[in-house]
Amino acid sequence: MKPLHSISDKVFKGVKKILSVPKKIFITTHKNPDGDAIGSALGLYIFLKNMGHDATVVTPNGYPEFLQWMPFNKEIIKYNSYKEKVRQALNDCDLVFCVDFNDTGRLSQMESDFKKVKKITVLIDHHPYPQLPADYVISTTEASSTAEIIYNFICAIGAKKYIDTQVATCLFAGIMTDTGSFAYSSSSPETFRVVSELLKYGVDKDDVHYKVYDTYSENRMRLLGYCLNEKMVVLKQYKTAYIWLTKEELKKYNFITGDDEGLVNFPLSIKDIRVSAIFIEKKDHVKISFRSRGKFAVNTFSQKHFKGGGHLNAAGGKSELPLQETIKQFLDLLPGYAKDWK
Ligand code: 5GP
Ligand code: MN
Repeated sequence: MKPLHSISDKVFKGVKKILSVPKKIFITTHKNPDGDAIGSALGLYIFLKNMGHDATVVTPNGYPEFLQWMPFNKEIIKYNSYKEKVRQALNDCDLVFCVDFNDTGRLSQMESDFKKVKKITVLIDHHPYPQLPADYVISTTEASSTAEIIYNFICAIGAKKYIDTQVATCLFAGIMTDTGSFAYSSSSPETFRVVSELLKYGVDKDDVHYKVYDTYSENRMRLLGYCLNEKMVVLKQYKTAYIWLTKEELKKYNFITGDDEGLVNFPLSIKDIRVSAIFIEKKDHVKISFRSRGKFAVNTFSQKHFKGGGHLNAAGGKSELPLQETIKQFLDLLPGYAKDWK
């Protein structure tokens, strides 16, 4: 399989030329960044620094502790805490890299500051329907993750010599998290090829896995138990299961960012369940995640009904209705859709 075959050579040549002299580079990713977002942003950051560029990594907000161990993690500037610093970095830069998102709406609070500044922009992403205006678009839904594309991008511009153990570790973490440790259908022979190349740079894969998946707090583990035992509703007739959590329940379990990560996947491990959802009550909205098996496109479903999007089998969304009304809206939609996945 030819890597990134759908992306024209012209794109790589253009970016390669820009990177042939030292630049000030601004790297950003989406709100509530996940492992692929952080791994891609930091992997790219370290790579660009190794090339001799001056780079800055920004996230719109914070992210879970289990993602805070990557090299140079402390260099990441969170827009919600350091707005002025981020505006300055945006103004000063020559080039912007947007990784793991393709719509400026995903920048949330940072969107308006981002849009005020027009810089040469490179988009590296693997979500469908890119909307973000960029000069160079390196995007394919065929890749398991943005990190997989970044590795191939580095190869395509002939800059493999700037990959070191730290770059490889970040990119490996991005691929590992976005593929559910290589379990989801999104991992392809190409994914495993890239991973085997990355491991040769000395990535401690067992340590990465441990740091991401086996560092639960006691609260988080008990919240998981509570969700599965008491809060999961299984609707066999619709091959659907869902979980919902109120603000009070989150408080009871001393919920912190990331404690809900992966919860939505558990119901999909029940035999014959094809669709899973989680509804989490936040201060002024309900945060929703959807997962599916097979052809049911939760990204289109979420975009249509819950202001969201994502991938075919993994998407997010939100609702401004109260929690119970949001759940009712979901339940009312099920009969219409369930006929497609019966
Ligand atoms: P999660 O359920 O883990 O938050 O998100 C699953 C996937 O959907 C991720 O690829 C994430 O980037 C995407 N996603 C989550 N929320 C949104 C959203 O509000 N809009 C869009 N376009 N994508 C989302
Ligand atoms: Mn991703």
